[in-house]
Amino acid sequence: MEVHVLASGSDGNCTVIESDGDAIMIDAGISCRRIMSLMDQQGLDKEMIKAILITHEHSDHVSGAGATARKLDVPIVANELTFNESNLGDVQHWVYKSNSTIDIGQFHVTPLPTSHNAVDPNCYFTEVDDKKVLVATDTGKFSFQIEHALALADVAVVEANYDREMLVNGPYPPSLKKLINSDHGHMNNVDTAAAIRRTMGENEHRQIFLAHLSRTNNTPDTARQSVADITGIKRMRIDCLEFPGDTRTINVRG
Ligand SMILES: [Zn+2]
Ligand SMILES: [Zn+2]
Repeated sequence: MEVHVLASGSDGNCTVIESDGDAIMIDAGISCRRIMSLMDQQGLDKEMIKAILITHEHSDHVSGAGATARKLDVPIVANELTFNESNLGDVQHWVYKSNSTIDIGQFHVTPLPTSHNAVDPNCYFTEVDDKKVLVATDTGKFSFQIEHALALADVAVVEANYDREMLVNGPYPPSLKKLINSDHGHMNNVDTAAAIRRTMGENEHRQIFLAHLSRTNNTPDTARQSVADITGIKRMRIDCLEFPGDTRTINVRG
């Protein structure tokens, strides 16, 4: 089982989870053309994709979703409000109800509500046999459910959007700073690190990938250092994308 982070951040988000020749895509917030070329680069067969799951309707998560769903001839999977807000054009879609799990081939996917300025945002916890992957971004706080999933995950792709000091002293207008820093905004490095620390297991084998880093209010070094300082996890064991256009493949060790 592998997690392919094709894009992460406000320029666009797209993650592919692959297992045994099947795959699901979580969000498609970069162009269809870019997704196709990144999948080629990663050696991902497009036939593998069975569905595109959408977390919420912000353009950095859906801008390429309609075109990609049509190109790959796969359904969009989202809750009703999110699907209706996303304006994806003529696409196949499966609408799920809140608090229900979704089975897509071998992928057992649980949507977990996030706290974000969108109509009905969720993140996704994916299980295949005994392997578990959490992809959780775009939330002002981690709910009890998300923290529980974080504790269980073998691979946790979690948001570390901003460094509080960089946000406060940065160029964003006060209203946007306030939104980002609110319960309906994004996770900062320290709060994410604290959640990781609270959920550490005895045999900490969990792989941590920091996602959705702000290019204005964070740096890969700052995010990694904050999480290392607070959790005691070695810096080199905390991964994130390093530069625009960077991608990552994470091998899920159960
Ligand atoms: Zn986003
Ligand atoms: Zn968002």
